[in-house]
Amino acid sequence: MDVEEISIGLADQGACVTHLERVRWGDTPVCPYCASTNTYRLRQEYRHHCNACRKSFSVTVGTILHDTRLPLPKWFRAIRLIVDAGNTLSAKQLQRDLQVSYKTAWSIKQRLREAMSREDQAWLRTLFSDTSVHLGNGER
Ligand SMILES: [Zn+2]
Repeated sequence: MDVEEISIGLADQGACVTHLERVRWGDTPVCPYCASTNTYRLRQEYRHHCNACRKSFSVTVGTILHDTRLPLPKWFRAIRLIVDAGNTLSAKQLQRDLQVSYKTAWSIKQRLREAMSREDQAWLRTLFSDTSVHLGNGER
């Protein structure tokens, strides 16, 4: 895999959000709280508002990517590395590659491994099975 290309393509939070939304929802966002599709986009914040339950949400609600301090581009990179390397990827490697602390790298690895074994997070795996993942490099 071309790590250079990944780091350029997904360096941007917005590009990551857009890609996540497409993989998770297709064209129609679904409210994670009440499953309604009656929503509208609050574009600036990468968030959506649900007309049914009146909550607002982002694509990461209900996923392991929610409420973390790690920016999405780093999560994407971590997911790519783990999808590619499987169990042979060490926390040390992850630490080096993401430039985070060992503790952070270890916890990312644990979370991702757990998530990828769960049915409801299976869509995470498809994030990188798709070549159109190389986005955000100036072409819109
Ligand atoms: Zn709702």
